[in-house]
Amino acid sequence: MFDKFHEECGVVGVYGHPEAANMVYLCLYALQHRGQESSGIVSSDGEVLISHRQMGLVADVFKEDVIKRLEGPSAIGHNRYSTSGQSHLKNAQPFVVEYALGPIAVSHNGNLVNAGILREELETSGSIFQSTSDTEVIIHLIATSKEGSLMGRIVEALSRVRGAYSLLFLTVDRMIAARDPMGFRPLVLGRFKGNGSGRGYVVASETCALDLIEAEYLREVEPGEIISFTPKGMESLKPFPPVPHAKCIFEYIYFSRPDSNLYGRNVHQVRKELGRQLARESPVKADLVTPVPDSGVPAAIGYAEESGLPLEFGLIRNHYVGRTFIEPQQSIRHFGVKIKLNAQREVLEGKRVVVVDDSIVRGTTSRKIIRMLRDAGAREVHMRISSPPTISPCYYGIDTPTRSELIASSSSVEEIRKFIEADSLAYLSREGMYSFLGGQSQGFCDACFSANYPIHFEDEGHTRQLHLFEATQQR
Ligand code: AMP
Repeated sequence: MFDKFHEECGVVGVYGHPEAANMVYLCLYALQHRGQESSGIVSSDGEVLISHRQMGLVADVFKEDVIKRLEGPSAIGHNRYSTSGQSHLKNAQPFVVEYALGPIAVSHNGNLVNAGILREELETSGSIFQSTSDTEVIIHLIATSKEGSLMGRIVEALSRVRGAYSLLFLTVDRMIAARDPMGFRPLVLGRFKGNGSGRGYVVASETCALDLIEAEYLREVEPGEIISFTPKGMESLKPFPPVPHAKCIFEYIYFSRPDSNLYGRNVHQVRKELGRQLARESPVKADLVTPVPDSGVPAAIGYAEESGLPLEFGLIRNHYVGRTFIEPQQSIRHFGVKIKLNAQREVLEGKRVVVVDDSIVRGTTSRKIIRMLRDAGAREVHMRISSPPTISPCYYGIDTPTRSELIASSSSVEEIRKFIEADSLAYLSREGMYSFLGGQSQGFCDACFSANYPIHFEDEGHTRQLHLFEATQQR
């Protein structure tokens, strides 16, 4: 079975820096929110590739002796998160393989939509897979390509895969970055400022990684672009015919860090604007606005600014609870959300509260939060969501549960309001979501909110696997 549809990742690569692995390590720290299950770095010392991958958070995976071992002027890294049950070390990246031209490592963010059919084809002709990840399909396509050069092989391999990929390849003397022609997942390019610590380039999922290592942001790796970094410099290639872009809108809503600059805009400012628009669309008579931290904070600031209501922190978050947090036994399960969030009676007692979050997925968190706010004395609780209802799963690299688990896939807003026990509930409209772009929705993928999928699954076997997978998840 494939490890599909539920994979989130952060990628980074550094080329031409004396402490490449150290830089990649720092960047992985900045990208921890994109994946908390496993982490890995592969470096090149000019002769061999050196690899370290392990389950766990960046802080647990890399100790001083490990980083010291990862020598050389170039390195790539990867953070991975997956909920599909395939959480094994064998799926941790970067992958490293030996093929005709030597060793190669790869880090991938995104999901392919034709990995199933390609894998079947490759297995029929003798390829042996070590993991259940679709990234390995790309490696096998490169290994079995008849093209002479590495670039030729990569172009041929990528011309056969469809779906979302932001990729980094590393060989002993080269790094190659590639982004799929629709640009589903982000990928940015930066350069070290060259003040003694060496020159060199960095490619990462988000700009917050560049900020940390004081690299200068140059631009996005463009959709459909392949950039090769060699000792001679940087070379850009656009080998595929241009297609309409489908950049992920959910990166703006929830996934990216607010301090990142995404598709040319600061994420925090975008989220604030979404909050302002939400206040314009769905005002409510209340005493205060409170965010669900951290994801609802910028939108709550915007909502408060626009509505003229005071912003208060009625919920406090414990920052040491990770996503790998294990639910306690049934008898004390209701403490679940309380471990992460606590409501402040002093702020909430007797108040009509607007609580702002970025999205509702299953609805269980909102329900618990609203109960918590009422238990702490809130007189009325009005929920406001800074995105449209999440009605469809993502097949391109965001971890969303199956359609049947998405409360908005089968329930009306009024039914959801009843379920979460709010006095009122309003989502941002789809048009409102694009208001910060002057209403221009072209070039974005919003399949999670619209069920308009820019690329469909094209292979039967894979779709069957998807259904099988959904069935097992529902049990
Ligand atoms: P739920 O209880 O399933 O409705 O969870 C809603 C919460 O999940 C909201 O606070 C969102 O910020 C958060 N959320 C939305 N999308 C994701 C995601 N892909 N991974 C983790 N959390 C998410």
